[in-house]
Amino acid sequence: MPGYETIEHDVLVIGAGGAGLRAAIAASAAKVKVGVVCKSLLGKAHTVMAEGGVAAALANVDDRDGWKVHFTDTMRGGQYLNHYRMAEIHAKEAPARVHELESWGALFDRTPDGRILQRNFGGHRYPRLAHVGDRTGLEMIRTLQDHGIHQGIDVHMEHTVLTLLRDGDRVAGAFAYDRERGRLKVFRAKAVVMATGGIGRAFRITSNSWEYTGDGQALAYDAGADLMDMEFVQFHPTGMVWPPSVRGILVTEGVRGEGGVLRNSLGKRFMFDDIPPLYAAQTADSEEEGWRYCTGDKDARRPPELLTRDHVARCINREVKAGRGSPHGGVFLDIAWIKEKLPNSVEHIKRKLPGMYHQFKELADIDITQEAMEVGPTTHYIMGGVRVDAESQMSTLPGLFAAGECAAGLHGANRLGGNSLSDLLVFGKRAGDYAAAWAKEHALGRVPEEAVAAAEREAMAPFERTQSADVAPFLLHSELQDCMQDLVGIVRREEEMARALTTIAGLKSRAARVAVQGNREFNPGWHTALDLKSMLLVSEAITRAAIQRKESRGAHFREDFPAKDEAAGRINLVVRRGQDGAMQIVPEAVPQPTAELKGIIEEMK
Ligand SMILES: Cc1cc2nc3c(=O)[nH]c(=O)nc-3n(C[C@H](O)[C@H](O)[C@H](O)COP(=O)(O)OP(=O)(O)OC[C@H]3O[C@@H](n4cnc5c(N)ncnc54)[C@H](O)[C@@H]3O)c2cc1C
Repeated sequence: MPGYETIEHDVLVIGAGGAGLRAAIAASAAKVKVGVVCKSLLGKAHTVMAEGGVAAALANVDDRDGWKVHFTDTMRGGQYLNHYRMAEIHAKEAPARVHELESWGALFDRTPDGRILQRNFGGHRYPRLAHVGDRTGLEMIRTLQDHGIHQGIDVHMEHTVLTLLRDGDRVAGAFAYDRERGRLKVFRAKAVVMATGGIGRAFRITSNSWEYTGDGQALAYDAGADLMDMEFVQFHPTGMVWPPSVRGILVTEGVRGEGGVLRNSLGKRFMFDDIPPLYAAQTADSEEEGWRYCTGDKDARRPPELLTRDHVARCINREVKAGRGSPHGGVFLDIAWIKEKLPNSVEHIKRKLPGMYHQFKELADIDITQEAMEVGPTTHYIMGGVRVDAESQMSTLPGLFAAGECAAGLHGANRLGGNSLSDLLVFGKRAGDYAAAWAKEHALGRVPEEAVAAAEREAMAPFERTQSADVAPFLLHSELQDCMQDLVGIVRREEEMARALTTIAGLKSRAARVAVQGNREFNPGWHTALDLKSMLLVSEAITRAAIQRKESRGAHFREDFPAKDEAAGRINLVVRRGQDGAMQIVPEAVPQPTAELKGIIEEMK
């Protein structure tokens, strides 16, 4: 008898966030047998934490909006390293995906005439984010979950996939363990959709929850698929900085969209001092114009606080380093000031930003309707991930698809806020459609017993090793977080990143000796020991790609190469395992937009 159970599906979706659920719904609509595996409980994915909204050019609040403007904003935000076709599909299909969500029961905030309300967000030319207060992700997950469970999808909760299984050169399934009982399982599938989200837990300060350890990227890479753009990690400008126990928790960009301003310890709105040329024509000249923009004046331009995240995060970093920061190492984000403009500001803030109001009240004893918040950058999102075909979302490993945050291509060097939730819906659906089509054309692959036996040995090995303080899983995790935060963070230098690679190599060899104790049921030490492999792999990929990109672009800022480099601006960095097993970083030309799309970009400049 094998030490594991075997379960068969036509399409296996790994991850139950927005991308995974949308893929599962699409695949089951194509009448194939679908299974969803997720690391925690259904409904608890990262997507549920999304606050500000989902970007779609519905043009409900400003009729000048449309797919062309959304496409151009996304390309500009990504500094033209985006896959143009993904940006085009995304901009064109996002409105239909949002309306579909509404038809499945999502209750968005409304305009006075009853249409879906849209709010301002960084880098979007017009108000574009459909939202539900600042709890949009909750509504999205609730709706997808409700809809999904009526489609006959099998859900395997609290299961962590540890290895992808191959049959020759195609994917044949996945090997997993369930956290509750510690049992091992083999999932056989004709097609697999990877939808595992981000990598934030590899860094010390992050808005991400415990599940985001880069598993999808690492599993795909290990199985032979290409990764791409891994150097582009988004540091969101506004995370909580105090008290220490909540450091990194996100403060939505919606605060700035509603008129919140950033000030340093001198009380100065420092964002007016540094407006990048690419955005100069679209940015307000005065505080007064910025406020008018936030209140919907179509003739006003956006305040500099709503410049792209990469830029705002670096400006905050600069203020803190120059000694003009707040008492706990951030800067001040003030929405309370709008009482000068709105007599009912307290109710207004509580209605528009209920989550933020409660978050600060409960966690920091700050009333944001009266006082400024202290905020600073937090590791939030990764633009890079599994390299996919723009139409089908298939990776370079046949039968393996990827969607959502774990896939690369749409966002280029920097993601605009709100473009993730729309990404999940648009490309989650596509991944599910194409995975189902693939499953109809292919039989189940053979799952090699040797591969399963090797995966089982690897999973169980930490129990068999001798305990030693220097290989405790939490210690290794903590050292990795310090290394990535300090050496591969928001401002990067070659010499520091080279040190990071040495540290990662040392951690890898210690992780190969990692030991845990206790039994297999709900064993957090064991879980962390298994997570380490993915976190170390994605950390190495991020660091190697960041060393190779010798310029500053989007979220990647090199102190030793502070300018953009024209030639580097024409390449994506592909991460691939070489013949000798070592990680290779291979430059490849960025696909060039069609003449029509180039014309649209020019026209919208
Ligand atoms: C606080 C916060 C606020 C945000 N606000 C916004 C916003 O307003 N607008 C916006 O567009 N974006 C926002 N984002 C970003 C956005 O929420 C995420 O990028 C997006 O939700 C990712 O969705 P996903 O479906 O790719 O993955 P996730 O929602 O992250 O789901 C990943 C799934 O994969 C599972 N998983 C992971 N590893 C494994 C494994 N090894 N085995 C099995 N299952 C696994 C997890 O359990 C989970 O079910 C926000 C992010 C945060 C953290």
